Amino acid sequence: MNIILMGLPGAGKGTQADSIVEKYDIPHISTGDMFRAAISEGTELGLKAKSYMDQGALVPDEVTIGIVRERLSKPDCEKGFLLDGFPRTVPQAEALDELLAAMNRKVEHVINIQVDPDELVKRLTGRRICKVCGTSYHLQFNPPKNEGVCDKDGSELYQREDDNPETVKNRLDVNMTQTAPLLDFYETKSVLSNINGQQDIQNVFKDLDVILQGNAQ
Ligand SMILES: [Zn+2]
Repeated sequence: MNIILMGLPGAGKGTQADSIVEKYDIPHISTGDMFRAAISEGTELGLKAKSYMDQGALVPDEVTIGIVRERLSKPDCEKGFLLDGFPRTVPQAEALDELLAAMNRKVEHVINIQVDPDELVKRLTGRRICKVCGTSYHLQFNPPKNEGVCDKDGSELYQREDDNPETVKNRLDVNMTQTAPLLDFYETKSVLSNINGQQDIQNVFKDLDVILQGNAQ
Protein backbone atom coordinates (compact mmCIF):
# COMPACT_ATOMS: atom_id res chain seq x y z
CA MET A 1 0.00 0.00 0.00
CA ASN A 2 2.36 2.71 -1.16
CA ILE A 3 0.09 5.62 -1.87
CA ILE A 4 0.47 9.24 -2.90
CA LEU A 5 -2.49 11.50 -2.25
CA MET A 6 -2.99 14.50 -4.50
CA GLY A 7 -5.58 17.20 -4.86
CA LEU A 8 -5.87 20.96 -4.83
CA PRO A 9 -6.30 22.87 -1.56
CA GLY A 10 -9.87 22.43 -0.37
CA ALA A 11 -10.40 19.14 -2.23
CA GLY A 12 -10.74 17.25 1.04
CA LYS A 13 -7.40 15.47 1.18
CA GLY A 14 -7.11 15.69 4.96
CA THR A 15 -10.43 13.98 5.61
CA GLN A 16 -9.73 11.21 3.12
CA ALA A 17 -6.23 10.73 4.48
CA ASP A 18 -7.70 10.16 7.94
CA SER A 19 -10.05 7.49 6.59
CA ILE A 20 -7.30 5.70 4.66
CA VAL A 21 -4.99 5.70 7.67
CA GLU A 22 -7.72 4.32 9.90
CA LYS A 23 -8.77 1.55 7.54
CA TYR A 24 -5.36 0.44 6.28
CA ASP A 25 -3.25 1.20 9.30
CA ILE A 26 -0.48 2.95 7.39
CA PRO A 27 1.14 6.24 8.42
CA HIS A 28 0.03 9.54 6.91
CA ILE A 29 3.24 11.30 5.96
CA SER A 30 2.84 14.95 5.18
CA THR A 31 5.81 17.03 4.16
CA GLY A 32 5.35 19.46 7.03
CA ASP A 33 5.21 16.72 9.68
CA MET A 34 8.22 15.00 8.17
CA PHE A 35 10.33 18.15 8.33
CA ARG A 36 9.18 18.98 11.86
CA ALA A 37 10.04 15.45 13.03
CA ALA A 38 13.49 15.45 11.40
CA ILE A 39 14.24 18.84 12.92
CA SER A 40 13.05 17.93 16.41
CA GLU A 41 15.00 14.63 16.30
CA GLY A 42 18.02 16.71 15.30
CA THR A 43 19.07 14.40 12.45
CA GLU A 44 21.82 15.68 10.19
CA LEU A 45 19.36 16.23 7.36
CA GLY A 46 16.85 17.80 9.71
CA LEU A 47 19.41 20.35 10.83
CA LYS A 48 20.39 21.02 7.24
CA ALA A 49 16.75 21.60 6.31
CA LYS A 50 16.34 23.90 9.29
CA SER A 51 19.28 26.05 8.25
CA TYR A 52 17.61 26.69 4.89
CA MET A 53 14.20 27.30 6.43
CA ASP A 54 15.65 29.73 8.99
CA GLN A 55 16.96 31.82 6.11
CA GLY A 56 13.58 31.65 4.43
CA ALA A 57 15.16 29.67 1.60
CA LEU A 58 13.73 26.68 -0.26
CA VAL A 59 15.06 23.37 1.05
CA PRO A 60 17.02 21.77 -1.83
CA ASP A 61 15.69 18.53 -3.29
CA GLU A 62 18.64 16.43 -2.14
CA VAL A 63 17.89 17.33 1.48
CA THR A 64 14.13 16.82 1.13
CA ILE A 65 14.63 13.49 -0.60
CA GLY A 66 17.04 12.39 2.10
CA ILE A 67 14.44 13.17 4.73
CA VAL A 68 11.82 11.23 2.76
CA ARG A 69 14.20 8.27 2.51
CA GLU A 70 14.81 8.28 6.27
CA ARG A 71 11.09 8.52 7.00
CA LEU A 72 10.10 5.72 4.61
CA SER A 73 12.78 3.45 6.10
CA LYS A 74 11.10 3.51 9.51
CA PRO A 75 9.34 0.33 10.65
CA ASP A 76 5.85 1.87 10.60
CA CYS A 77 6.16 2.20 6.81
CA GLU A 78 6.72 -1.52 6.24
CA LYS A 79 3.08 -2.16 5.33
CA GLY A 80 2.88 0.99 3.30
CA PHE A 81 2.51 4.73 3.57
CA LEU A 82 0.34 7.60 2.48
CA LEU A 83 2.43 10.46 1.16
CA ASP A 84 0.86 13.90 1.11
CA GLY A 85 2.62 17.01 -0.19
CA PHE A 86 5.51 15.08 -1.70
CA PRO A 87 6.52 14.75 -4.50
CA ARG A 88 5.74 18.22 -5.85
CA THR A 89 7.78 18.06 -9.04
CA VAL A 90 8.71 15.47 -11.65
CA PRO A 91 12.39 15.37 -10.55
CA GLN A 92 11.19 14.66 -6.99
CA ALA A 93 8.89 11.92 -8.32
CA GLU A 94 11.82 10.35 -10.19
CA ALA A 95 13.96 10.51 -7.06
CA LEU A 96 11.16 8.88 -5.09
CA ASP A 97 10.95 6.04 -7.63
CA GLU A 98 14.68 5.52 -7.31
CA LEU A 99 14.74 5.43 -3.56
CA LEU A 100 11.77 3.06 -3.45
CA ALA A 101 13.38 0.80 -6.06
CA ALA A 102 16.42 0.54 -3.79
CA MET A 103 14.02 -0.77 -1.13
CA ASN A 104 12.39 -3.17 -3.62
CA ARG A 105 9.24 -1.13 -3.55
CA LYS A 106 7.30 1.21 -5.79
CA VAL A 107 4.48 3.73 -5.86
CA GLU A 108 1.35 1.67 -6.30
CA HIS A 109 -1.38 4.28 -6.29
CA VAL A 110 -1.56 7.96 -6.94
CA ILE A 111 -4.98 9.15 -5.89
CA ASN A 112 -6.00 12.53 -7.24
CA ILE A 113 -9.11 14.00 -5.67
CA GLN A 114 -10.70 16.17 -8.33
CA VAL A 115 -12.90 19.13 -7.59
CA ASP A 116 -13.89 21.85 -10.03
CA PRO A 117 -11.82 24.99 -9.30
CA ASP A 118 -14.95 27.17 -9.05
CA GLU A 119 -16.28 24.86 -6.36
CA LEU A 120 -12.93 25.08 -4.58
CA VAL A 121 -13.09 28.86 -4.60
CA LYS A 122 -16.52 28.57 -2.96
CA ARG A 123 -15.17 26.16 -0.37
CA LEU A 124 -12.04 28.15 0.37
CA THR A 125 -13.60 31.59 0.61
CA GLY A 126 -16.45 30.52 2.91
CA ARG A 127 -14.42 30.37 6.09
CA ARG A 128 -15.23 32.85 8.84
CA ILE A 129 -13.42 33.11 12.15
CA CYS A 130 -14.46 34.58 15.50
CA LYS A 131 -12.42 37.63 16.44
CA VAL A 132 -12.48 36.69 20.10
CA CYS A 133 -12.39 32.90 20.55
CA GLY A 134 -11.04 31.89 17.13
CA THR A 135 -13.82 29.38 16.41
CA SER A 136 -13.95 28.63 12.71
CA TYR A 137 -17.20 28.56 10.70
CA HIS A 138 -18.04 27.99 7.06
CA LEU A 139 -20.84 29.82 5.28
CA GLN A 140 -21.78 26.66 3.36
CA PHE A 141 -20.83 23.72 5.53
CA ASN A 142 -20.88 24.99 9.10
CA PRO A 143 -22.66 28.33 9.26
CA PRO A 144 -23.13 30.23 12.53
CA LYS A 145 -26.71 30.34 13.85
CA ASN A 146 -26.82 34.12 13.30
CA GLU A 147 -25.12 35.61 10.28
CA GLY A 148 -21.79 37.22 11.05
CA VAL A 149 -21.63 36.44 14.76
CA CYS A 150 -20.09 33.66 16.83
CA ASP A 151 -22.45 31.06 18.37
CA LYS A 152 -20.34 30.86 21.50
CA ASP A 153 -19.81 34.47 22.47
CA GLY A 154 -21.73 36.61 19.96
CA SER A 155 -18.54 38.26 18.73
CA GLU A 156 -18.02 39.41 15.17
CA LEU A 157 -16.72 36.94 12.57
CA TYR A 158 -14.08 37.90 10.05
CA GLN A 159 -12.51 36.50 6.89
CA ARG A 160 -8.78 35.87 6.84
CA GLU A 161 -6.76 37.78 4.27
CA ASP A 162 -5.64 34.45 2.74
CA ASP A 163 -9.24 33.43 2.15
CA ASN A 164 -10.28 36.27 -0.15
CA PRO A 165 -11.27 35.19 -3.69
CA GLU A 166 -8.34 36.82 -5.49
CA THR A 167 -5.76 35.18 -3.24
CA VAL A 168 -7.54 31.83 -3.35
CA LYS A 169 -7.80 31.85 -7.17
CA ASN A 170 -4.14 32.69 -7.42
CA ARG A 171 -3.16 29.92 -5.03
CA LEU A 172 -5.21 27.41 -7.04
CA ASP A 173 -3.73 28.56 -10.37
CA VAL A 174 -0.19 28.22 -9.11
CA ASN A 175 -0.99 24.81 -7.67
CA MET A 176 -2.60 23.54 -10.88
CA THR A 177 0.32 24.70 -13.00
CA GLN A 178 2.76 22.97 -10.68
CA THR A 179 0.94 19.66 -10.41
CA ALA A 180 -0.07 19.18 -14.06
CA PRO A 181 3.31 17.69 -15.12
CA LEU A 182 3.29 15.45 -12.05
CA LEU A 183 -0.16 14.09 -12.89
CA ASP A 184 1.06 13.41 -16.46
CA PHE A 185 4.09 11.61 -15.08
CA TYR A 186 1.97 9.22 -13.00
CA GLU A 187 -0.63 8.85 -15.74
CA THR A 188 2.13 7.58 -18.03
CA LYS A 189 3.11 5.08 -15.36
CA SER A 190 -0.52 3.89 -15.14
CA VAL A 191 -0.76 4.41 -11.39
CA LEU A 192 -2.95 7.52 -11.43
CA SER A 193 -6.59 7.33 -10.35
CA ASN A 194 -8.81 10.39 -10.52
CA ILE A 195 -11.55 10.44 -7.92
CA ASN A 196 -14.60 12.67 -8.05
CA GLY A 197 -14.27 14.88 -5.01
CA GLN A 198 -17.60 16.63 -5.59
CA GLN A 199 -19.76 14.13 -3.73
CA ASP A 200 -20.20 13.53 -0.04
CA ILE A 201 -17.20 12.56 1.96
CA GLN A 202 -18.39 8.95 2.43
CA ASN A 203 -18.82 8.44 -1.31
CA VAL A 204 -15.43 9.93 -2.08
CA PHE A 205 -13.93 7.39 0.29
CA LYS A 206 -16.00 4.56 -1.22
CA ASP A 207 -14.61 5.31 -4.70
CA LEU A 208 -11.12 5.62 -3.35
CA ASP A 209 -11.43 2.42 -1.40
CA VAL A 210 -12.46 0.46 -4.50
CA ILE A 211 -9.11 1.39 -6.02
CA LEU A 212 -7.14 0.45 -2.93
CA GLN A 213 -9.07 -2.82 -2.51
CA GLY A 214 -8.15 -3.78 -6.04
CA ASN A 215 -4.59 -3.74 -4.86
CA ALA A 216 -5.19 -5.76 -1.70
CA GLN A 217 -6.52 -8.71 -3.73
ZN1 LIG B 1 -16.32 33.29 19.50
